[in-house]
Amino acid sequence: MSVQQQGCHNPVNRPHARYGPGGALDSPCVAVPITLTLRAVSIPSVFRPRRHTVTAMVGSVPVGSAHPIVVQSMTNTDTADIAGTVAQVASLTRAGSQIVRVTVNNEDAAAALPHVVAQLADIGVTTPIVGDFHYNGHLLLAKYPDCARALAKYRINPGNVGGKRRDENFRSIVQIAVDNDKPVRIGVNWGSLDQDLLTVMMDENAAAGYPMTAHDVYVEAMLTSALRSAEMAEEVGLAHDKILISAKVSLVPDLVDVYRKLATRCDYPLHLGLTEAGLGMKGMVASAAGLSLLLADGIGDTIRVSLTPKPGGDRAEEVHVAQQILQSLGLRSFAPQVTACPGCGRTTSTFFQSMAEDIQNYLREQMPVWRGRHPGVEEMRVAVMGCIVNGPGESKHANIGISLPGTFEEPKAPVYVDGALMVTLKGDGIVPEFLEILENYVARTYPTPEVAPV
Ligand code: SF4
Repeated sequence: MSVQQQGCHNPVNRPHARYGPGGALDSPCVAVPITLTLRAVSIPSVFRPRRHTVTAMVGSVPVGSAHPIVVQSMTNTDTADIAGTVAQVASLTRAGSQIVRVTVNNEDAAAALPHVVAQLADIGVTTPIVGDFHYNGHLLLAKYPDCARALAKYRINPGNVGGKRRDENFRSIVQIAVDNDKPVRIGVNWGSLDQDLLTVMMDENAAAGYPMTAHDVYVEAMLTSALRSAEMAEEVGLAHDKILISAKVSLVPDLVDVYRKLATRCDYPLHLGLTEAGLGMKGMVASAAGLSLLLADGIGDTIRVSLTPKPGGDRAEEVHVAQQILQSLGLRSFAPQVTACPGCGRTTSTFFQSMAEDIQNYLREQMPVWRGRHPGVEEMRVAVMGCIVNGPGESKHANIGISLPGTFEEPKAPVYVDGALMVTLKGDGIVPEFLEILENYVARTYPTPEVAPV
């Protein structure tokens, strides 16, 4: 629900008014291809169709190409801190995370996990909880059967299941998954790749007549680790549709390379995400860049944005970013989108920025209420524009839009509803009056479904 700073675009389908006859700038607005801006939500078919996969059920959530791309997240609480973990899972769920992963790193965490799931159920949160296991998963799942039962999925990193007894430990975890009818994510990671496998593949490559680059061998080793592990899991008895795969790296070009290759070699649902995406803007932009390239190729069935939160920051931010990536690509709708121009010298006062922020905040606050009462409201588009140059045009393309007066313009703000001028607001009450119009529009356009009598 973040404010999308989109450039002004021309209301008719002709070259952007930003360019004069000679191609020079005649308006400071950022150019955005008109077809993309207008069609992003309604015609995602500009991208390749989803790559076909089987469907894996993670608890009640289907993951696969026949279903919408699933947003998931991971807690950063100590799982043994039951109250803290319950609170964070609930918060992530409220933000829209459909699956939440928790680390199960020791006996305290494994013992606490069933209580976490039970307490979540007590407060009405039934989000599937995934256990993240490294090194000792075979021991913990065997010793804590309630934990094995309470989890909706186990994540296994084939590089972290033990040295000499790696295959044996891996098979033990998979057997517990089979016994409990649980799916497994085989999650290979660039930073913890199976070193024995890598060494063998590097040696074989060095001995080959036409050796690949070390980078290509590394990528191949990741794919081999994931796909061999999947094969082994099926040998143990895990059903084909109970396996999901991820192969995470930390650089965008590598991510695209790995997943494009992986996508051609299996029909398991793929979990996408950069590992260690990073802090703040870097993490968001890198995740958006990498995931967008793959999603546009039809690759990816569930996504996670692995942001490093600021100290005391809101963990749910990673959920909002994941949703915004999907909504910006037109693949899913989660919340009304605000289209705001970037502002320029025509908007020298801060009124325009304040109003855009007020509307943004209002939408965010209302969304938990609207989501239940007004189905479809998540597809609404609201325009908040800074001046007359492109304000009316952009407003007409939104469901509801307002064009504020720029510097030296007459102090009035035309409001457009479904493409037509509805009213022109003036004076100090522009924001509350616009919000009232907005609220009425939502009630009228996305009516509350009638509950059939029992
Ligand atoms: S203030 Fe006007 S000219 Fe400047 S970016 Fe916004 S709509 Fe474009």
